[in-house]
Amino acid sequence: MRHGNFCDSAVRSNLPRQYTATLGWISARSYSTGNPVHTRRSTRNGLLDAAKAAATAAQVDLSKFDGVVACGFGGTELCGWVGGMAALCDANSLQPSLLGQEMGHGYGLDHARLQGSTADYMDPWDVMSTAAWPDRQASSADYVSIGPGLNAACMRSRGWLDETRVWSGPYAGYDTVVTLRPLHHRHLHGYLAAEVGPYLVELRVRERWDASACGGAGPPLRRQPQLPDARIQRFRGPW
Ligand SMILES: [Zn+2]
Repeated sequence: MRHGNFCDSAVRSNLPRQYTATLGWISARSYSTGNPVHTRRSTRNGLLDAAKAAATAAQVDLSKFDGVVACGFGGTELCGWVGGMAALCDANSLQPSLLGQEMGHGYGLDHARLQGSTADYMDPWDVMSTAAWPDRQASSADYVSIGPGLNAACMRSRGWLDETRVWSGPYAGYDTVVTLRPLHHRHLHGYLAAEVGPYLVELRVRERWDASACGGAGPPLRRQPQLPDARIQRFRGPW
């Protein structure tokens, strides 16, 4: 998976990745996933520990890397450690749509949720909700399944949203037209999101990592989660 490609397109450009490298297959001894003595948590920890140990034994200096992704041969596990800069995947999940979420966990993101709720996977426009929304993923000849990117709220939570490009109106109210660029088109000048009361409004278009993110119908606009009764008239392109 092109971690850097995803970061450049859907997250931000300066995530630490100067030591990004893909290693070949290595053999690792680990817990048996079928052993009832071990909980799933310990199994996952065991798999990660075994992969790291095997990499170290193969003369790989893991201290040079910001994080580790271990991919099992065949079907093993799919998970990420929130804030732990580590993820597991396997032959069934080595694709950005799924592994992007697990790596997002590594950077400290949890699953996308609604305000005031602890239910997981609630935002179909955010990679932190795949695989609950398979129709929001696009097939890719290069990467199997891609998208969607991160939403503006998740980006903000990590400090990845350029706050100088977030529109916000005066506290006393406003009646105006705001022009938004697509959230992930940072190369275009202008606003990438708008702050409307407690909400962030973002524009997502069906291309690149968001190729299927907006589903098959409806305008290429999302309101997160709903526009309140604000006096913003409309949002418009071009993009
Ligand atoms: Zn997850």
